[in-house]
Amino acid sequence: MGKVIPNSPVVADLQAVCDLTSEVLGVHRPLRLLVTTSLHGRACYRTHTIRIPQWAIDEGELFTTYYIVHEVAHIATKSKHDQRFREAEERGLAAWGITLTRKQRGVYCEALTGLGMRWTERSAEVVERPA
Ligand SMILES: [Zn+2]
Repeated sequence: MGKVIPNSPVVADLQAVCDLTSEVLGVHRPLRLLVTTSLHGRACYRTHTIRIPQWAIDEGELFTTYYIVHEVAHIATKSKHDQRFREAEERGLAAWGITLTRKQRGVYCEALTGLGMRWTERSAEVVERPA
């Protein structure tokens, strides 16, 4: 599953993104955000914790914001990648002015626009295993 990276210097900024997204999506219990060495992101309903892999952070601010919104949307909807989840995810992204182009098959993003940036998938697959 990968190790939690203690005292990650970016965690305070990411936590702020997490908190504002939680507010938008009606998650009232505070979420804890951890940065990990894992390949996978994760949302745990029981502990109200989301895990963001360092590689996603390395993709830059736009992709990182998307990744946090994706995990918070799992907590907000307690669902995997169904229609309700997708709507919540899009609402969360809209709050940051981000638009998402999904892959033709599946839920993951092919391209993102927002925060004055554009992100497109190069080689990395977004792999994820929600709780
Ligand atoms: Zn997911």
